[in-house]
Amino acid sequence: MKTNAYAAQTATTPLAPFTIERRDVGKHDVAIEILYCGVCHSDLHTVRSEWNGTTYPCVPGHEIVGRVVKVGKDVKKFKEGDTVGVGCMVDSCLTCANCKEDLEQFCTVGTVFTYNSPDKHTGGTTYGGYSQSIVVDKAFVLKIPKHLDLAATAPLLCAGITTYSPLRRNKVSKGQKVGIVGLGGLGHMGVKLAKALGAHVVVFTTSANKVEDALRLGADEVVNSKDADEMKKHLNSFHFILDTVSAQHDINAYLLLLGRDGNLTQVGVPPEPLSLNVGSLVFGRRSLSGSLIGGIKETQEMLDFCGKHNITADIELIPIQKIDEAYDRLVKSDVKYRFVIDMALFKQAL
Ligand code: NAP
Ligand code: ZN
Repeated sequence: MKTNAYAAQTATTPLAPFTIERRDVGKHDVAIEILYCGVCHSDLHTVRSEWNGTTYPCVPGHEIVGRVVKVGKDVKKFKEGDTVGVGCMVDSCLTCANCKEDLEQFCTVGTVFTYNSPDKHTGGTTYGGYSQSIVVDKAFVLKIPKHLDLAATAPLLCAGITTYSPLRRNKVSKGQKVGIVGLGGLGHMGVKLAKALGAHVVVFTTSANKVEDALRLGADEVVNSKDADEMKKHLNSFHFILDTVSAQHDINAYLLLLGRDGNLTQVGVPPEPLSLNVGSLVFGRRSLSGSLIGGIKETQEMLDFCGKHNITADIELIPIQKIDEAYDRLVKSDVKYRFVIDMALFKQAL
């Protein structure tokens, strides 16, 4: 099936219309008409080859919500007309030790990511959600709580799970002081989720114009991270800090804010290496970790949690034609707080 999409042909050219082929619906497959797709900073890192390893043409997009248009004969869990989600993965072996522990993002045979991964069905590369339709194995399709706004739910599929997973793994709960560094797509979800888990939430931002929003989103305190005196007031006090920053910055300044045995988890993936002052770890027995999205089971748990607590993203809907402008704004931290592509506008423009 031919599908209209937007693709980057090189690291330096704007995204442009491109036609892709979706596979026929196999017996385990779900075919989805894409309604909305969130714009993650990872899309930008990949399109502009900031992490290297990008295969062109590249059709990004891994925060997909849409409507089921067809299911394979062995699919019982979904039916035509259901609203569903697809996140950062579309396949894995489902049999290795990590897959068996519901950690398909670490499949030892090789996780197939929604875009820029080898596609075993076509022999080419996977193409993501900046497109009108997608065909996905049922094991990687998620149910969307019925009452949530669909466009604002799309970002949960990456920004939601990427922040939920480390918050849960670190047992964030009432009585804990939790820091969220960077108030962008991931960061603003981190604030909402940490707050819903009962934590005292402190946002660290470089953008003075985000202070009021941070409080409205649920933060108990906001710190201007460029102000050393403001930072100093929080020395040795945090149980957990989630760092969502997409660019070079000083993580040592945040490690010093952790209390004894505190953990800083890095989910932002700046293209350049960060420098680590080991002393900031050793004194206080602090730890530094990374975290990659979350498994499918945990992603469904996160969606259900968001359904229960009425949590969605704060979004700015854009037509796909404005994607490069949105990327330029992401680079300037000018995002409040997730761009979401409205596919109905794409359809109208064809
Ligand atoms: P985003 O919406 O662009 O937000 C990033 C935020 O970081 C900005 O809004 C800004 O917040 C802050 N920031 C940016 N440049 C900065 C700098 N030079 N110094 C200090 N702060 C800066 O990006 P996102 O979509 O949330 O993604 C964030 C990062 O997470 C990206 O690197 C992305 O690739 C990565 N990611 C990782 C995973 C995973 O599984 N680990 C999943 C998705 C995304 P303020 O304006 O508040 O300072
Ligand atoms: Zn993402």
